[in-house]
Amino acid sequence: MKIIKNYIDGKKLSKSLDTIPVNDPSTGEIISEVTISNELDFADAIVSAKKSQIAWSETTPLKRSRILSKYKTLIEKNMDLLAELVSKEHGKTLEDAKGSITRGLEVVEFACGIPHLLKGEFSQNVGTNIDSWSIRQPLGVCAGITPFNFPAMVPMWMFPISIACGNSFILKPSEKDPSCAIKLAELFTEAGLPNGVLNVLNGDKKIVDLILNSKQIESVSFVGSTPVAKYIYETASKNLKRVQSLGGAKNHLVVMPDANIDQSVDGIMGAAFGSAGERCMAVSVAVAVGDIADKLVEKIDLKCQKLRVAPWTDSESDMGPVISKDHKEKIEEYISIGVKEGADLILDGRNYKIQGYENGYFVGPTIFDNVSKDMTIYKEEIFGPVLSVVRAKDYQEAFELINNHQFGNGASIYTSDGEIARHFTTNIKIGMVGVNVPIPVPMAFHSFGGWKESLFGSHSMHGIEGINFYTKLKTTTSRWPKSINEGPEFIMPTN
Ligand code: NAD
Repeated sequence: MKIIKNYIDGKKLSKSLDTIPVNDPSTGEIISEVTISNELDFADAIVSAKKSQIAWSETTPLKRSRILSKYKTLIEKNMDLLAELVSKEHGKTLEDAKGSITRGLEVVEFACGIPHLLKGEFSQNVGTNIDSWSIRQPLGVCAGITPFNFPAMVPMWMFPISIACGNSFILKPSEKDPSCAIKLAELFTEAGLPNGVLNVLNGDKKIVDLILNSKQIESVSFVGSTPVAKYIYETASKNLKRVQSLGGAKNHLVVMPDANIDQSVDGIMGAAFGSAGERCMAVSVAVAVGDIADKLVEKIDLKCQKLRVAPWTDSESDMGPVISKDHKEKIEEYISIGVKEGADLILDGRNYKIQGYENGYFVGPTIFDNVSKDMTIYKEEIFGPVLSVVRAKDYQEAFELINNHQFGNGASIYTSDGEIARHFTTNIKIGMVGVNVPIPVPMAFHSFGGWKESLFGSHSMHGIEGINFYTKLKTTTSRWPKSINEGPEFIMPTN
């Protein structure tokens, strides 16, 4: 059986002999084993990251940018291979995997602008003959812990920017789909990144705890579920690290009576069922306002009948399996709870079987109508292909529903009324907002992050937020006085 090792100091190696299986979600088969790193692996990664960081921080931003530029070309060249690694272990369709890698690639493209992004500020004569300037300097060794659902894109929200800023980086990818991260690190070495600047440590909670408690690590970036995000935020903060910790979501899409209904239905279909609903920006709640609900549910149901659920090897597939047997069971349990609590099950994706893939972790598209705000399926994140339709009598009711929800990642409104759209974008308590756009994921040169239980810490990912997170601010005040000594000053200088 193939063992997926760590990537430390430019080499694939692991000292720990512990492993856990990695499955192909389409077949349920074990396809490899991944190292569960121990203290020795961690120590190796720290030595390598610390040693390389000093020289890397002294490498000019322009030279760093040129390596990033070569890295971009290598990712483009290896796109098919990277996408296959993602699809085989995650289960998402090949085109969707490519799309997600492209979104990660855009962060590399953004990071190529690092000479400009680190330019700083200068003020001449802040006082008489006194100048002042601010620069941003790297933190040292940074760490990132990432979820299973975007094995390429989410790590790429983090390490290209951290490394461009002059840090070294230790990545702990999800143990469920670790292969793509190793390939991404190898390609960076091929592009000219010195050994040790990017290390990948595989494993589970044990290695995460070593990261959180290490005095050698300056910052932790986390993306995953809310309970773990809180734990990471609290533990890393207690250990005086800089932390950005992104959690789960329950994203609403409001359909106003004046919306273009076919555009709304298409938006909901892709956003609810793409990647089997395993996206932090997936739309899991459609809020139908006024009398549009019956038509909306009917049209979504019709489209779902034509949706093709199939493994990633099928080029016609719209949606693949979910990540694991446990997760499939958890989603099906949520569907049962929805029925028990009185929601109308319009389409049931439980016990979904595909010929030849009977052991795969497939869940069919599922639609609930007449979901209310006190139901479990409304309150909690399901993270599967389950759409809840909530009926609201007017815009105000829809608006309050979203603002009162515990999560605050994304929300969208479909309408042709500019005044309503402006009220929504201005007043909604959500980090990423869409108007006639189903999944409002910000591009690399903006920043990604939610509000409320969807983000802990004061920085979002990538964009200028990323540059600020991975650097410390230093402000220097300088003067070159004449040799005549003017004597001490005991009052605050004001000129
Ligand atoms: P998860 O929280 O189970 O795992 C995330 C990472 O944390 C993994 O690397 C895992 O090994 C590690 N981990 C798991 N349990 C841990 C523990 N008890 N202590 C320390 N580390 C632990 O999340 P997941 O199932 O891999 O990913 C799905 C979740 O991620 C969903 O909730 C989804 O909404 C969220 N997500 C959020 C965003 C966002 O931007 N807000 C993006 C992608 C995914």
